[in-house]
Amino acid sequence: MGYYDATFTPFTFLREHAMIRVDLHTHTNHSHARDSVRQMFEAGQARGLVVQGFSEHSPRPEGYDYPEEYREHLAATFDQYLAEVTTLKEEQAPRGVDVLLGLEVDWLEDEVPYLRRMTAAHEYDYLIGGIHFLGRWGFDSSPDDWAKLSLEERFALYERYYRTMKVMAETGLFNIVAHPDLIKIFSVDDFHRWLERPESMDLVGDALTAARDAGMAMEISSAGLRKPCREIYPGPKILKLARALRLPITFASDSHATEQVAWKFDELARYAAAEGWRESLVFRRGVVTVMPFAED
Ligand SMILES: [Zn+2]
Ligand SMILES: [Zn+2]
Repeated sequence: MGYYDATFTPFTFLREHAMIRVDLHTHTNHSHARDSVRQMFEAGQARGLVVQGFSEHSPRPEGYDYPEEYREHLAATFDQYLAEVTTLKEEQAPRGVDVLLGLEVDWLEDEVPYLRRMTAAHEYDYLIGGIHFLGRWGFDSSPDDWAKLSLEERFALYERYYRTMKVMAETGLFNIVAHPDLIKIFSVDDFHRWLERPESMDLVGDALTAARDAGMAMEISSAGLRKPCREIYPGPKILKLARALRLPITFASDSHATEQVAWKFDELARYAAAEGWRESLVFRRGVVTVMPFAED
């Protein structure tokens, strides 16, 4: 009371206070990222994170391959990933910094028993469900694959992607749905055209509703801004729909190098706050807490 600043506007207030202090999506040099667990953590500290979740890619069975494959390297060092994050977690807890052990699991629709076994083998704070494969095709690595597709084929893939997301959510295996419109990565204009159809939004809505009903959050990810689609995951139309469905959110940089940790989080905070969110979720071994990121 008594304080009045003539230059104050709700917008400037939001801009200055819309801080996000948690990044739940970081990779390490145990897969194809550049930097180590420790280096990624230090980068997060420099950016003011109080909760940092590691979400390394999951082991993947033979037959699901990227052109540049990291499977063998990951298999050889996966136990080290678990050990390094666990050590860091124990070391940082007394300082009030929360390091979380997570995993970004490649959703593979025909390998659900494998996924169940693999995720049950260790105790994770949380699991991110990431759709990068449709069938055996890793759709997010080669623009050339997409260049060959007709509009009709692209539309069919968008549709399949959201049907797949619904099935993934319904397993109840995951806490967070990763980059919820990654399928737009190499064909963003066509994807927006597809979203213009009411039946497309119905499919997206079905997938997001399944995620909400499974107790999941949807991540809002700055990674899309670094990719050819040049757009936050998810784009504005899906963000609005998620808000209407009261889907909780998490924040993600999907960082693969130190300079990407918490990258463009000021932009993510404004993006989410403009739709009405004021907090994001944190998952710790089945316990869910909320963290405010903006003030009214
Ligand atoms: Zn991913
Ligand atoms: Zn990722």
